[in-house]
Amino acid sequence: MSSKTESASATVEYQSAFQYAHSHTYEYNGETKVLAPIAVLKVDKEHPFPSNQGLNLVQIAELSQVGLQLVANVVIKLTNLLNFGAVVPARPDVPTQGVIKEAEKLGKEVWHGLEKVADDVVHDVVHGVEVAITDAEREAIHAALATLHDLHSALADIGKVAHELLHGGTKEVLADLVSELGKSLIHVYSDFTGAINQIAEKAGLRGQASSVRQFVELFQTIVVPDVLSTWQSDDEFARMRVAGPNPLVIERVQGRLPESFPVDEAAYQRVMGAEDSLADAIAEKRLYLADYRRLGVVEPGNFPAQQKYLSVPYALYAVPGGGTGQRPLKSVAIQLQQEPGGPIFYPFDGDSWELAKVQVQVADGNYHEMISHLGRTHLLIEPFVVSSYRTLDVSHPLFTLLLPHFQGTLFINNAAIVHLIRPGGFVDNLLSGTIEFDWQLVTNSLTKLNFDEWMLPNELERRGVKSPDLPLQYPYRDDAMEIWGAISTWVSDYLSLYFDGDAAVAADPHIQAWVRDLTSPQGGCIEGLGQLSADGTVAINTFDYLVRVVTMVIFTASAQHATVNFPQRDIMSYAPAMPLAAYAPGPDGRSVTEPQDALLKTLPPLHEALFQLILGQGLGGVYFTRLGDYDRHQNGSYFSDTRVKGPLVRFHENLRQIEINIGNRNLHRASYTTLLPSRIPQSINI
Ligand code: MN
Repeated sequence: MSSKTESASATVEYQSAFQYAHSHTYEYNGETKVLAPIAVLKVDKEHPFPSNQGLNLVQIAELSQVGLQLVANVVIKLTNLLNFGAVVPARPDVPTQGVIKEAEKLGKEVWHGLEKVADDVVHDVVHGVEVAITDAEREAIHAALATLHDLHSALADIGKVAHELLHGGTKEVLADLVSELGKSLIHVYSDFTGAINQIAEKAGLRGQASSVRQFVELFQTIVVPDVLSTWQSDDEFARMRVAGPNPLVIERVQGRLPESFPVDEAAYQRVMGAEDSLADAIAEKRLYLADYRRLGVVEPGNFPAQQKYLSVPYALYAVPGGGTGQRPLKSVAIQLQQEPGGPIFYPFDGDSWELAKVQVQVADGNYHEMISHLGRTHLLIEPFVVSSYRTLDVSHPLFTLLLPHFQGTLFINNAAIVHLIRPGGFVDNLLSGTIEFDWQLVTNSLTKLNFDEWMLPNELERRGVKSPDLPLQYPYRDDAMEIWGAISTWVSDYLSLYFDGDAAVAADPHIQAWVRDLTSPQGGCIEGLGQLSADGTVAINTFDYLVRVVTMVIFTASAQHATVNFPQRDIMSYAPAMPLAAYAPGPDGRSVTEPQDALLKTLPPLHEALFQLILGQGLGGVYFTRLGDYDRHQNGSYFSDTRVKGPLVRFHENLRQIEINIGNRNLHRASYTTLLPSRIPQSINI
């Protein structure tokens, strides 16, 4: 490695293709709005998105596959209207023979000429059967099928690429094809919202649900998440805090409860038993609090057409006394605001308690998407990608190690900012807050983040939940800590091939330029990262600290992102289990007269639930690459240095052992499979 011979203060050439942007604006109602600053890659007319950062062919194939599933799942809603899926004709008076014939034809020809077939079918329905279908409805069906058709042509283009590959097409031709393919896929996804809205309209999926069953019926060809059978139970409500989509809020109550949350002793005993008390539970490390105060900055929005609500709750949980070992939490109490004086709800409060739980789930969902997912994984890793390109040489061993853990991150982040968090986009549609306040939450999650404090062992310590000797059963902690350990060993083994101690690290000009760029207010703006050098500048002085920083980066890009990303499909795509907004305020302490109606008024309208399904299944359904599998999707070995083989084999063995350990733990706890190493991608790419 060349840098060993250079001095740490040697000037490192910055790669000018990668610039930082800190201010963000968008147009809304003819006004330009300025959002709170955040450090991301600069992308504008003069700085086009770097072509080598786009989607690759494997990702495109995976995204198309999930996209097809989603479009098909929704299109089935329409074919139901036309009675395609029925075993017997629903109405004997309707001559459906022609329709069924056309349906068969549709099935056969779905891969070519969908629009024409659809036209025939619609024609047959309109003329052969006395079903009133308006021109607008016919257009809606066409729009939906056209989306499917576009996806199909994207898939067909993959065939073209394969043809070029087989027949020795040049790299340029291939790159052009892949880039075209990526563009057409993005086009399909951005048209999605319009097509889905039309289908929702036509299929009657609009407005407040008339029964909870209707949320289940949104799943036509996609498996309904397991959470369907458990989401209303109090034990599941407690399990969400330690093994749900956002197992990152719960903290051990040390000393006393916040004064603003005066839980009643008698009520506590009514839930946990007369022999227990709050004081005993605190002393025995059995009392745990979820405090959503960070959501306090959010002003609820009303896009697209309805006022939304977001409470800023406290939720209290306890491990029952008198047992041994780790035990599951029980739900104890909820207060829906931070100020004291409002009602506190307990599990014996019946319908009010049930409605209060929904409000906590909404708070957790908003915290999850804006803080834990977008802020503390996607956008926390972004500056590491940008600064690595800017300051590390492509032949630098740290660059080689990190590159696979950055794959796809700039692309998905750019797509999220341009398509998801724009006015009228998914976030505006689904989440409780207005775009400005949602963005503020994201910004706060980064500016109020101290990088070193957020390293997993320190973060668990800060919340008082690190020790496995606590009575608390905490699947996320146990699995995450093992993976952190395996990554740390791998990073240390790998880096020790190139750095024989602290002096070698301190003398590496690229590593020093890297940490300075990451922490600079003109650069990555990362707080709490780095040590101090002798001359008072930010530096990395020791081998151990370098290992911890790199472990944090790889852990966040892989396991931490998997923690929050994949439950979007397994739990959150069923909207009642974790709605992303409440559509009615929480209970006020008076008795609930129409509990079923109150629940349905609180849950998202059906078309919003359908968007939540699509977002969750789409984002939570793509598993591109696998932790530690550096050679996947590539011909030959990724690391050209043969000395890496030993450490890498050890990393693989450790990951395999963790897979088995998690399986064993799942025999003795509520199953938590999110952090099985085989389900953790290398990088944030979805
Ligand atoms: Mn993600």
